[in-house]
Amino acid sequence: MSTKVQHQEMEIIKNMRQIPVEDQYLPGHRTCAGCGPALCYKLVGKAAGPDSIFLGPTGCMYVANTSYLCTPFAMPWTHTQITNGGAVASGIEAAYQVLIRKGKYKGKLPNIVVMAGDGGAIDIGIQAASGLMYRGHDVLFVMYDNESYANTGIQTSPMTPFAGKTTFTPPGKAIPEGKKTFPKDAAQCFIGGHPALKYVATASVGYPVDLINKVRKGLNQKGPAFVHIHSPCPKGWIFDAKQTIRVAKDAVECGMWVNYEWENGEYKYQHIPKTYKPVKEFLKGQERFSHMDEEMITKMQAFITAKIKTPGKPIELPVLGPREEA
Ligand code: SF4
Ligand code: MG
Repeated sequence: MSTKVQHQEMEIIKNMRQIPVEDQYLPGHRTCAGCGPALCYKLVGKAAGPDSIFLGPTGCMYVANTSYLCTPFAMPWTHTQITNGGAVASGIEAAYQVLIRKGKYKGKLPNIVVMAGDGGAIDIGIQAASGLMYRGHDVLFVMYDNESYANTGIQTSPMTPFAGKTTFTPPGKAIPEGKKTFPKDAAQCFIGGHPALKYVATASVGYPVDLINKVRKGLNQKGPAFVHIHSPCPKGWIFDAKQTIRVAKDAVECGMWVNYEWENGEYKYQHIPKTYKPVKEFLKGQERFSHMDEEMITKMQAFITAKIKTPGKPIELPVLGPREEA
């Protein structure tokens, strides 16, 4: 006789006071001061709680958190290759399903969470992430987005914004803007091609209650969910470490980042300002954009203006692709 798989029901919170005191991500790591992804980990850990298994594809949150004989993880955690967070999570989830059905594991299904950087989710890791979502595994896939390959020295990723200076996109005479392309839309990539996907959300470390609730809604699905979390990186974006939350909020207030949910085919938006600030406000505090001239800023503003008219929806890009001639 097989045992029915029981799921955890994670509570939705109303305010900061209801954020759990208990941490799953503790002091004792070596991330930079003001690290947005570290704050992201702390909040996702609080949201998921102790009955969870976290997977860390290679990235800053693996490298800086797993110094020899030292770890900040209070929950079960395993490293995966940068390519295969989705595949390893699929195997863990499938194994728990079998063990529970056969009565060999008595608890509820643990919260299984992949914590991938932008590289491990939407670039190098996209194949395994897509496989997980296609097959319908009961896993939450989180992408902590610091808009670069940070742990290897701030190289460009598909999430690096247009004109974002990285070690692979230095502005110069030949390419004055540094990076010519606009970023991928990760949430739309996954929504567009995965019929088994139950829930998708975008969140920001600047809005912790919203972030925790989206993680919990993702966990409460009986199937795959994806949460894309904007996580400013002071080292790679080159801003003062105490400004992380300000930078995160500026992104939302300028429309560089839109917080939304996609559930049952419906979109719901959060933190939409009455009037968007100019994109310049987001760019000015970050050294990675310091080379931008007025023409580049206008191009960036046109892209963002088009995007915020249809938040969360595919848009017709108002700019040429990198290999097209004007
Ligand atoms: Fe965090 Fe960026 Fe430093 Fe990596 S490089 S630890 S993401 S601040
Ligand atoms: Mg990254």
